[in-house]
Amino acid sequence: MLSTIRTNKLLTTMLPKIVFVLGAPGSGKGTQCQNIVKEFGFDHLSAGDLLRAERQTPGSPDGELIEQHIKEGKIVPVEITCRLIEKAMNVSKNDKFLIDGFPRNEDNLIGWNKQMSEKVQLLFVLFFECDEKTCTERCLSRGAAGSGRSDDNIESLKKRFQTYQNDTLPIINLYDEQGLVKRIDANGSPSAVFDLVKVVFNDVLSKGDN
Ligand code: UDP
Ligand code: MG
Repeated sequence: MLSTIRTNKLLTTMLPKIVFVLGAPGSGKGTQCQNIVKEFGFDHLSAGDLLRAERQTPGSPDGELIEQHIKEGKIVPVEITCRLIEKAMNVSKNDKFLIDGFPRNEDNLIGWNKQMSEKVQLLFVLFFECDEKTCTERCLSRGAAGSGRSDDNIESLKKRFQTYQNDTLPIINLYDEQGLVKRIDANGSPSAVFDLVKVVFNDVLSKGDN
């Protein structure tokens, strides 16, 4: 029995390691993920970026559906998102990944658990907590500065926040009940927030059993 547990543990530690990165739109997920990539050598897979790239791919059968969902702040069916994430992981030579902006609702979670959860080792969920007002200002100034995103406007943002409150927060709470969530106060400047992020990664990665 004990040796089975040990073998399973050994096999698990050989799987690619992942960290889910969640938080409201504009909470700084993308910015901090770039910092984590540089400092800790993870690959950054943003579900939103993967969907936007797929939308631009000529001949993609899902392009139109993806655009409609993004503009409305709705969540794309998990089969599409999961397929893109798995493909990006397979193409990469890395063995540790930040999965940014996913899973965002129950459909995402169920689809992930069915297709991917046994192929990876989930280290933890990094949760950026940030006031809605600050988040909205960040997204609007990102839009004004030419992000080119069809959802960085006040109408789409309202819907994105609703989706976040109704659909994503419950998923974060589920992971929290399993003791997997690391909370970060994300209201500060990028460098102040990264100081908090570093503490979490240094702590988890220094525990040799990962
Ligand atoms: N999206 C989705 N599934 C995902 C991630 C993103 O459907 O797993 C869509 C959704 O419409 C979302 C949009 O892509 O509102 C933008 O997501 P992104 O993560 O880029 O936005 P952020 O929260 O980082 O501002
Ligand atoms: Mg993002």
